[in-house]
Amino acid sequence: MTIPTLELNDGNSIPQLGYGVFKVPADETERAVSDALEIGYRHIDTAAIYGNEEGVGAAIAKSGIPRDELFITTKLWNDRHDGDAPNAAIAESLEKLGLEQVDLYLVHWPTPAKDNFVHAFAKIVELREAGLTRSVGVSNFLVEHLERVVDETGVVPAVNQIELHPAYQQRDVVAWGAERGIRTEAWGPLGQGKYDLFGAPAVADAAVAHGVTPAQAVLRWHLQKDIIVFPKSVRAERLRENLDVFGFALTDAEVAAIDALDPLDGSGRVGSHPNDVN
Ligand code: NAD
Repeated sequence: MTIPTLELNDGNSIPQLGYGVFKVPADETERAVSDALEIGYRHIDTAAIYGNEEGVGAAIAKSGIPRDELFITTKLWNDRHDGDAPNAAIAESLEKLGLEQVDLYLVHWPTPAKDNFVHAFAKIVELREAGLTRSVGVSNFLVEHLERVVDETGVVPAVNQIELHPAYQQRDVVAWGAERGIRTEAWGPLGQGKYDLFGAPAVADAAVAHGVTPAQAVLRWHLQKDIIVFPKSVRAERLRENLDVFGFALTDAEVAAIDALDPLDGSGRVGSHPNDVN
């Protein structure tokens, strides 16, 4: 199984499909990530706040997979933006992961009320220069936050990881990033199961037409739009299903029908608004 890669604006490449471990309990993470690596995943998305970096690290260590075949992302939590706190934060994450360097380090949320996200991003750029991460990016940034980061640091993040699924597509953020070489990563690519995405006719009909599951049809929609995804499951059969999305392609009409599921009024958001997380 060869997972396609996308090139980032710093010349590094990222597997377009990975495994995200938000809400995977700490004591189940090693087993779940080991299953994922065994099944063929090579890109793991975790975060300091998930409390499961040690399990990710244990699975990596046991896998025997060469480090350069893996792509590991973790994230700087909101209370560690100021001063030199990012330096200590990444050191702790690396220790837990058992790694000398991550592949991608993200500012997890902009926390705009504290007005310290430009500083936090500038600090993680220094961490890249120190060799502690290969690429730097942000998460949950709106256009107003991206503009400030780019204008004030002169560095364009490699990725912006945002809530993105058919009912909530954030087209303005995706387009702004695409014009400047920022890749979009979708969190909640399946809507976190919080609305009846799989029952929507655009999704269900595409799934039937290709003999796949609705989840596979939705993941394929993301991939065909050049979005990076890392759906979460702790069940090996779903991990297999979510990786098995490279043997078919949606038609342009099927993609357009799923595109039309976002009513454009913001009602499809399942997570927090970035300006409300501080
Ligand atoms: P998701 O859309 O991947 O949904 C996960 C849910 O979908 C799980 O509860 C699972 O039961 C179900 N599911 C998975 N595969 C399925 C399948 N094949 N068929 C039916 N149901 C299936 O949501 P998520 O986990 O929130 O997002 C994915 C990853 O994004 C996370 O694990 C995490 O790494 C990342 N994330 C980042 C942020 C952020 O603020 N940056 C926030 C949330 C999640």
